[in-house]
Amino acid sequence: MKGSIYTRQKCFLCQSSGEKGTLKYVDGHGFLQCPVHSDVVWSGSCQVRFGKEHHKRFQTTVEAERHLTFLRVQEDRGEFDQRQWAKDNPLSFLSLRLKFVKVKKTKDIKPDQIYRINRALERAGGFKSDHHGIPWDQLQIQQISDAEIDDFLSFDHRVIRKKRLPNGKVKLVDQGPMSKKTIAGLRSVLNDFFKWVVRREKRRSGLQMPDIPEISYKMKMRTIVSVEDQQAVLDELKHLTWDKNPRIWLGVKLLSLYPKVRPGEMREVQEGHINLSDGWIVFPQPKEQAPKFIHLLPEHCDMIKDIRDMVPPTMPDVYFFRHLKTGRGKKAGGQFGDQYFNEWWKKAAGNLGIESVPVYPGTKHSTTTALGKIMSPEQIKNNVTGHSSDAFYRYFLPDHEDAITATRKLAEMQNSTRKAGKLLVNLFGGEKKVN
Ligand SMILES: [Zn+2]
Repeated sequence: MKGSIYTRQKCFLCQSSGEKGTLKYVDGHGFLQCPVHSDVVWSGSCQVRFGKEHHKRFQTTVEAERHLTFLRVQEDRGEFDQRQWAKDNPLSFLSLRLKFVKVKKTKDIKPDQIYRINRALERAGGFKSDHHGIPWDQLQIQQISDAEIDDFLSFDHRVIRKKRLPNGKVKLVDQGPMSKKTIAGLRSVLNDFFKWVVRREKRRSGLQMPDIPEISYKMKMRTIVSVEDQQAVLDELKHLTWDKNPRIWLGVKLLSLYPKVRPGEMREVQEGHINLSDGWIVFPQPKEQAPKFIHLLPEHCDMIKDIRDMVPPTMPDVYFFRHLKTGRGKKAGGQFGDQYFNEWWKKAAGNLGIESVPVYPGTKHSTTTALGKIMSPEQIKNNVTGHSSDAFYRYFLPDHEDAITATRKLAEMQNSTRKAGKLLVNLFGGEKKVN
């Protein structure tokens, strides 16, 4: 019959003659007994072991026997479920990991961090290491050590995404191997978890901190660093969106040319805020602030005009950056959502294998970094990224020419990347000095 009862108590008669003196469980009698000295019986504290993984302690052999009988009945009926017992067992991986997440929730940790920790431990809980062949969740914490953790971290983890099919069913799609970076994240969660467990259980169970190997990784994706990257993303964006709505590309293009404008300000622009005959766009600001202006180069006026003329003229208070067609949850005439530029930007960047920096840093930083090579920080601050509060003075007082010059430089630099790789050489060749 499966399962038995064990105790650390020994037969003292056996031991005095140098034998081990192990006491054996006598089925159905509620005690353990020495096979040699039948007078020596034990009915006190003991442990039920049922299969390799189910262990449970009891104060008396009678209680233990009742539990063992119950397990055997469950097993006979095919109802035995180790997971159920693991949950009640305070030293199972399952119980401890649930407790760990609970403790984390009481700390000042962001919900997405908690989610990440929980997902990592869930993954570990479902993992079967070679040695045991059953999921960690059903193991005692002492059974998970260096070898098991090694198995887990070197396993070919896959990224599985849920995909909803048109018929409403959910299909699991293998997205390929998990990145080193994500595995390093799993490692770090396990490390924290074991530190916490060992601190709690060291004294009581003599648990040792496992040796968890470091994982080194290099980012596969690169971040946008140059105007060349920026232009490549803009080209991809144009390719993706032009037929759908050229204003998506135009908005991002203007963000890259006029980095002092934020995406949120860009989408607030109405038809009447754009003056193409005098070449400027005004960005209304909260009451207490002066409005922000940008001065457009003639070719940018033409670019906006071409795109504007693709649809019939409309009222001045209509949002310029609006959906032109109805579909997929978007209504024709509706203003772009606050993440709309960003979503398309990231999609375009992702297609090129460039890490999806959000649109604002993606456009602004690469632009200003590149400009830093040809202009002083002071000139950039004043003429390109200038603060909204002083924008009015900047652009309507004598240094207005500088602002135009800065944008001109930028436009040339963006254009030159398409013609030749060596943009700085082109820029300096024959350029008059700024200021
Ligand atoms: Zn004995």
